Amino acid sequence: MDQANILIIGGGVVGCAIAQAVSHRWQDVFLVEQFPKLGMATSTRNSGVNHSGIYYPKNSLKARHCVEGNRLTYEFCKRHNVPFRHTGKLVVAVDAHEEEELLALKKRGEENGVEGLRIIGPVEIRAREPFIRGVAALEVPSTGIVSAEELVHGYARVATNQGASIVTHARVISLEPSGETIRVGLRIGDEEDSQDETIDAKCVINAAGLFADEVAALLGNHSWRIYPVRGEYCEIRGPQSLLIKNLVYPLPHSDGLSLGVHFTKTLWGSVLVGPTATYVEGKDNYEKNRLPIADFAHSAKTLLPEIEERDLQLGYSGLRPKLVPPGGRGIADFVITRDPNVPQAIHLVGIESPGLTAAPSIANHVSELVGEVLN
Ligand SMILES: Cc1cc2nc3c(=O)[nH]c(=O)nc-3n(C[C@H](O)[C@H](O)[C@H](O)COP(=O)(O)OP(=O)(O)OC[C@H]3O[C@@H](n4cnc5c(N)ncnc54)[C@H](O)[C@@H]3O)c2cc1C
Repeated sequence: MDQANILIIGGGVVGCAIAQAVSHRWQDVFLVEQFPKLGMATSTRNSGVNHSGIYYPKNSLKARHCVEGNRLTYEFCKRHNVPFRHTGKLVVAVDAHEEEELLALKKRGEENGVEGLRIIGPVEIRAREPFIRGVAALEVPSTGIVSAEELVHGYARVATNQGASIVTHARVISLEPSGETIRVGLRIGDEEDSQDETIDAKCVINAAGLFADEVAALLGNHSWRIYPVRGEYCEIRGPQSLLIKNLVYPLPHSDGLSLGVHFTKTLWGSVLVGPTATYVEGKDNYEKNRLPIADFAHSAKTLLPEIEERDLQLGYSGLRPKLVPPGGRGIADFVITRDPNVPQAIHLVGIESPGLTAAPSIANHVSELVGEVLN
């Protein structure tokens, strides 16, 4: 049986960023990931946007970690050669009645500490995005895009260089508090050829994404239920991808479910159109009953009248780990907390967007909680 100071469950961007932060301070750090590779779940099935923090309620964890995470993500990308582009973005009002909402968004962003926000008119919109239709837009200079996959691997590489052990194909199947430690049961390998092992950890961090509720339940904590909400993309490739230069968003949905179908120019020159938002059954349900391309063309035309259905092809999809049930409204905040009954465990639940951006700031927060457990 092995012993660990810290065992992190989940090799997505959040688990890997945490591994990087805690292995800087402590030895004997393990990260276990059930899939054969890191970042195969939500962390590489997203828009890859380094968000600014304009959308989230003042003083929420989402606002705090997004604003700080935006800065830390750029710093990390520069230092560790992760591809990124600091593009800025436009949130566009298509008619006069949306202008008030745009001003409210600007005010919220400023309250959250987002710098450089500015309302621009149709002439400046045209100068930045010649094919976009809008009466006004909020210019958000701190937004950009990153290679999500290389970011995950960048955090993991730094963690490994600092001495952390990362084990893939290792699924946590049981968690048993045992004195000062937690006994972690692992199933290592694939279905046909697996073996079970245990490891005793002084601190366990649950960064299991869509499965964080089920991992918490292994410790008898049934506080949360995660509802997968699928976000689907279409892509524009070829000459029509020149219709978009950078990042263009509509105003966010009032139901709090998503930021609305937007345009993201990728690092590779194609344009992502999406993501949509639909509650689905099953935490691996990426493809069943995909939306028709015509739906994307219909949404996209509001901002980009020149786009046609024939310009779009179906892209990938991702699942948001939502804490708000179907029919519910509003934005749930990130949950980052020590378990009330097993305080050596730290849970991260509902880490939906802007989790990719927020990961390094969340990691510093978790590192403080680990300090409380180990010191
Ligand atoms: C459509 C979409 C678009 C998005 N766009 C953006 C964006 O542009 N910008 C942004 O900042 N954020 C965005 N997000 C959010 C962002 O992708 C997530 O917040 C982030 O990836 C969450 O990372 P994670 O590490 O918590 O989860 P995950 O990437 O899901 O990682 C959790 C890992 O835990 C592993 N695991 C689970 N259970 C176990 C177990 N029992 N044992 C071992 N391993 C286990 C899983 O296999 C998984 O790899 C988007 C999300 C979606 C769905």
